[in-house]
Parts: sequence; C-alpha cells; structure tokens
Amino acid sequence: MANVPVCPVCGERAVPILYGLPTPVAREAAAAGKVRLFGCVIPAEPDNWTCPQDHTWQADDDQVLGAAIDAALHRD
Ligand SMILES: [Zn+2]
Repeated sequence: MANVPVCPVCGERAVPILYGLPTPVAREAAAAGKVRLFGCVIPAEPDNWTCPQDHTWQADDDQVLGAAIDAALHRD
C-alpha cells in the first residue's frame, strides 16, 4: 500500500484532492471515498489533501501524493 499521510489537525487518514473535470474513473474513486473532487476552479495555492473532517492542506511530498492518486484511480 502507498504510504498515505494523515491529517495534521485531526489525525484521520488523508484523501487526495483532484481538481478539474473528473474522468469516469475519478468519479468512481470519489464515490468510493478514495479521492475528493474539488471541481474546475483551482486556487492559486491549491491544497492537495483532505480528510473526513474536511480539513485541507498542501502536500509536502509530491511523490507520495502522486502515488496515492495512482493507487486510488487504479483500483486493486
Ligand atoms: Zn482532519
């Protein structure tokens, strides 16, 4: 399994945020709670992670983020 970070505020398991028009695979992953879809409006400094309590924060490791998104979109 990917090394998924936890929320720095509440310690819950982090979920990657996806921006932009979601693909069907991304919609499925979101429905399963593996990613969160934040829509097409991308802020200047977008947050990359969210948690079940709706905290959001920026990734400090793009490789971990990318791996988590890959894992979410390529179901296993
Ligand atoms: Zn949290």
